[in-house]
Amino acid sequence: MSRVLLVEDEEHLALGLRFNLENAGYEVRLVRTGREALQEVEREALDLVILDVMLPGDLDGTQVARAIRRAGNFVPIIMLTARDTMEDRIVGIDAGADDYVAKPFDLDELLARVRGHLRRQVWDRRRGEAPEALPDPAEAPPEGEGEVLAFGDNRVDFHTWKATTHAGQVVQLSGKEVAIMRLFAQEEGKVIPRGMFLEKVWNEPATLETRTVDNFILRLRKLFEPDPRNPRHILGVRGVGYRFVR
Ligand code: CA
Repeated sequence: MSRVLLVEDEEHLALGLRFNLENAGYEVRLVRTGREALQEVEREALDLVILDVMLPGDLDGTQVARAIRRAGNFVPIIMLTARDTMEDRIVGIDAGADDYVAKPFDLDELLARVRGHLRRQVWDRRRGEAPEALPDPAEAPPEGEGEVLAFGDNRVDFHTWKATTHAGQVVQLSGKEVAIMRLFAQEEGKVIPRGMFLEKVWNEPATLETRTVDNFILRLRKLFEPDPRNPRHILGVRGVGYRFVR
């Protein structure tokens, strides 16, 4: 289920939008200020952010978008605003937003844009990981004979890149997710610094922010931890990185 963060302070509009997004099958977090939005973005691996420009408090929508990008997070952002001027659109896009919808907007159009960005994100993710985006079926061993990491009630198959979660859900992992789990398996029990993830999983330690690692960890916890906020397998080591235990 895709997770959408909705940042909107107008109560009536916010509740209506949340209702319709949930109806469309998304998991929705609703917050009303820029500060809360940034906390949510840090805490939760999100698939899309719908961000109102005019927000109460000390951070407006464009500042929130900038802060999200500065942290190395490339979640799609759709900005909402009451004003539809060329200048506002440019400021929003320059701040890092992917799209811009002026109020009052047509609900169906907004939902179509949400679908579009979520779809694009899946494509980008695959393309970004080419050429090893999906495992070569010819190289996959017969079912049940793959190299498997089992922990808790989770299983990760390193050949098919399929994971079965504690909840019984079967998920196709991305190349980066598999690489992270492989590193965990290799370094089981040891503290792995964030820089080591960037080096081994991304191969470009200098150009990425360590927040990138945290975002992937959040998603993996969401998949594999029955209680992601009290992880039992993917443990955080404050100020350093992560440690994996079965
Ligand atoms: Ca507003």
